[in-house]
Amino acid sequence: MSPFGPSAMPDTFRAMAFDGSRALRPVTMPRVPPGPDELLLRVHTCGVCRTDLHIVDGDIPTPVLPIVPGHEIVGTVLARGARATGFEIGERVGAAWLRSTCLHCRWCETGRENLCRDARFNGLHAHGGYATHARVDARFCVALPPSYDDIQAAPLLCAGLIGFRALRAAGEEARRVGIYGFGAAGHLVAQAAIAEGREVFAFTRAGDTDAQALAMRLGARWAGESTQPAPEPLDAALLFAPVGALVPKALGDIAPGGTVVCGGIHMSDIPAFAYRALWEERVIRSIANLTRADASGFMALAARSPFVCETETFALADANEALERLRDGRITGAAVLDCSVAP
Ligand SMILES: [Zn+2]
Ligand SMILES: [Zn+2]
Repeated sequence: MSPFGPSAMPDTFRAMAFDGSRALRPVTMPRVPPGPDELLLRVHTCGVCRTDLHIVDGDIPTPVLPIVPGHEIVGTVLARGARATGFEIGERVGAAWLRSTCLHCRWCETGRENLCRDARFNGLHAHGGYATHARVDARFCVALPPSYDDIQAAPLLCAGLIGFRALRAAGEEARRVGIYGFGAAGHLVAQAAIAEGREVFAFTRAGDTDAQALAMRLGARWAGESTQPAPEPLDAALLFAPVGALVPKALGDIAPGGTVVCGGIHMSDIPAFAYRALWEERVIRSIANLTRADASGFMALAARSPFVCETETFALADANEALERLRDGRITGAAVLDCSVAP
């Protein structure tokens, strides 16, 4: 059971909010009771994702201001709405980027709810997990493997999930997989790929010997800088760095029939390249968001093959520092906010 009974429920909670200026500010928010399908969570931890950085930098339009970012939310259920019966009071749950969808459009009805035109996202359309408390849609929450503590579980919820979806998009036949950008998503998908018997080649930003060493420690076949040619032709290239110039570079690294998967929500422009780079059935594709099936599938894999979650933890009050360090490439693995103490 949770130590937070109804009597411990505060009338307000604290958060770090984005109001259009570059730095997040500590704010006090009124506690709103959960809607019929919602859970009120006491947030324990929240992962810091590159998407949050894109929001703060204005790369992604924000429909609501101020907005509390954060979509790798680990918390326990304090209260729940009348229809939110899938989780118990006191149970630990995870809430990811996909907050809700319409559930009845042609995308939702064909297993592609990630593309729903009415999809809403945690930390973009509704307040997210850079907070002591959060209201989330229970229908889109996921149970977390108990073998991961609150810090380790947070990066699974976006970095892990997006990496997993990118790996699935590369196809089962992709044995030699290049990972471009070896951060939160890269280091988790590398372990998923190796667990499936694939070979991993890790490409990092210039001089990032920490990330290269992490890749080798986790079992990569090769690690080097993203400007270096692949040591042998790859079957797939998974791009997590938001650098459009990596697309033609990765096309040059893959064999005929190979796939370049762009995993980010935002990327700088892709430079022009000759058609022959794409010929022989090479494919460029993106992945967008995630589905609940991705979440349950990935959490089952994470429970079976325990992943090393390399994390750096920051107090919630230090969210700006975490974002700055992510922007500068000074995070090894994933940044996670400890939300147990109010800012
Ligand atoms: Zn994310
Ligand atoms: Zn829909």
